[in-house]
Amino acid sequence: MTQFIPYSRQDIDASDIDAVTSVLRSEYLTQGPRIEEFEATFAALHGARHAVAVSNATAGLHIACLALEVGPMSRVWTTPNSFVASANCALYCGATVDFVDIDPMTRNLCMQALENKLIAAQARNTLPDVVIPVHFAGFACDMHALSRLARRFGFKIIEDASHATGAMYDGQPVGSRFADLSVFSFHAVKIITAGEGGMVTTQSGELDQRLRLLRSHGITRDTALLEKDPHGPWYYEQQTLGFNYRITDIQAALGLSQLRRLSGWREARERLAYQYDEKLRGLPLQLPARSDDRVCSWHLYAVEVTHEAVDIDRQTVFKAMRAAGIGVNVHYIPIHTQPHYIGLGFKPGDFPAAENYYRRALSLPLFPALTEEQQDYVVATLSKALVKA
Ligand SMILES: *Cc1c(COP(=O)(O)O)cnc(C)c1O
Repeated sequence: MTQFIPYSRQDIDASDIDAVTSVLRSEYLTQGPRIEEFEATFAALHGARHAVAVSNATAGLHIACLALEVGPMSRVWTTPNSFVASANCALYCGATVDFVDIDPMTRNLCMQALENKLIAAQARNTLPDVVIPVHFAGFACDMHALSRLARRFGFKIIEDASHATGAMYDGQPVGSRFADLSVFSFHAVKIITAGEGGMVTTQSGELDQRLRLLRSHGITRDTALLEKDPHGPWYYEQQTLGFNYRITDIQAALGLSQLRRLSGWREARERLAYQYDEKLRGLPLQLPARSDDRVCSWHLYAVEVTHEAVDIDRQTVFKAMRAAGIGVNVHYIPIHTQPHYIGLGFKPGDFPAAENYYRRALSLPLFPALTEEQQDYVVATLSKALVKA
């Protein structure tokens, strides 16, 4: 049998290994110089004034919520078509979570549905404090529309940009402009990896300071920020209740090394995505959306098996692909249908577009080292599975 083709795969080369081993031989394993370098490089690449590295994107989403003062009285809205962390971060703060259904074309939070829900919430005095859009697969949400709604209805924006490292919207990098805070993930399957890791970007110096406190126990040693007179050179102050959400120098060195290959990888992913578009044309599938004003980072290439056109379901196709050694996957089980969220009062049927998308969704293998030969095998296997009906 041919070698298993995963849906995503990290790319680790000798320069990554050298970067990591040089940290292991150095004085600092954590809280050393690689972290600041990683933050500065990431900020520059994403057009952000500030970037704060954290242990993972989930931690980043949590302290992003806290930095915007999300608490037990707050309301936070997000999309059901995401990983559970996009909503859990608000629950960590004791906030009330709600969802807005997706646009079936982009699979992102639907701006019209959001506007309708905001108008209804305004009448009941239950407007959200924060909205968390997710750039699904690295295809940016309509951030102009979202910003207009944020101004009109007075909410803050945390973008979950876990898929969107290196993505662009209207000529500018995701993470630079429209959100109060943007959160990126460096989990092994994401665009770049630090093993585990995350980054929060912002244009606000004040939010940057709050994030830095929150990621490290609420403690500062910065003499300019101290509330009391220092007792001596050892002095530090805990000014708020924070966490240990720090990244290590080992991880930061890997992330920094990976960033050097980001633009090449983005091009490789885009080329593969275009080839999928070409090769899959004519099959009973709905392909990912395109837009001239976005540069997609192509974290995922997700198709939908359109049952209307052919009498075969996603389950059968999924099994046929796996049996052929192709690591297809499904993104995402709508968050509100998870048992924990059912326990909070949500029910199947609440967000039909996300649920309909989920019934049909299939993520095909996509990573920079995927060869055209492997891609042809994926396409041939998929065509066969679809035609078998
Ligand atoms: C991966 C992912 C996360 C969580 O990232 P971690 O770094 O694993 O904590 C959050 N949101 C989305 C959309 C993701 O894909």
